[in-house]
Amino acid sequence: SMVIGILALQGAFVEHQVMLQKLAPSLHVEISVNLVRSIQDLQACDALVIPGGESTTIALLAKHSGLLDPLRDFIKTKPVWGSCAGAILMSRSVTNAKQGGQDLLGGLSVTTVRNGWGSQIESFEAPLVVTSLSQPDRPFQGVFIRAPAVLSIDLAPEDPPLRVIARLPVDLLPNTQSVIQENQGLADHFNPQTVVAFRQGNHLFTSFHPELTKDDRFHDYFVQECVIPSLITNPSSNMLK
Ligand code: GLN
Repeated sequence: SMVIGILALQGAFVEHQVMLQKLAPSLHVEISVNLVRSIQDLQACDALVIPGGESTTIALLAKHSGLLDPLRDFIKTKPVWGSCAGAILMSRSVTNAKQGGQDLLGGLSVTTVRNGWGSQIESFEAPLVVTSLSQPDRPFQGVFIRAPAVLSIDLAPEDPPLRVIARLPVDLLPNTQSVIQENQGLADHFNPQTVVAFRQGNHLFTSFHPELTKDDRFHDYFVQECVIPSLITNPSSNMLK
């Protein structure tokens, strides 16, 4: 069976585990869901979820466990989903980082703003229109908690294309000064700060927390669209064992 790992150093990893385990019987492939805390745990995985929490804490714990470089290598070849803090860690760069900067894992061609909604609106919920999910007419409730905002998309020529999956209505956009300045004058549809979920290659970015809802459609999307297709073309996967 294939192994989906959840990085379990800090944050909302149990919620992802519960949701994936509940989803498992409805998938046409057998999956096992493993918590990842060591290099050995990571090596057994075919895909990984990096949960929300506190990106600086997760990075610090990863560093102490010797996981930073193994995670970076893993992201280069395997499907990975970063939600909230996980999405920050998978960004190419981050602004508004903790003093002294923070270690990132990379993998996604974006710059994010940590705590993009500032201290005025720290947390909020908003219904998102997500046409790539099953039941596309049913909005997905986005739970944003001190969420990162996308500041810019910086695609290098060799990078896989980036496909936007969900945008926020403009009236809910972050009002952080750096975000406004960078993106001033852009039409909504071209404004990277409206982007709250995207897919790039086998990677998934959500700035919100699908694992804190009862709606498992993002988990289903990750397995069906990112994980399974990559395993079919990757002969070293555990699925074929
Ligand atoms: N603000 C947090 C960070 O910087 C992310 C918050 C979250 O994951 N809910 O890591």
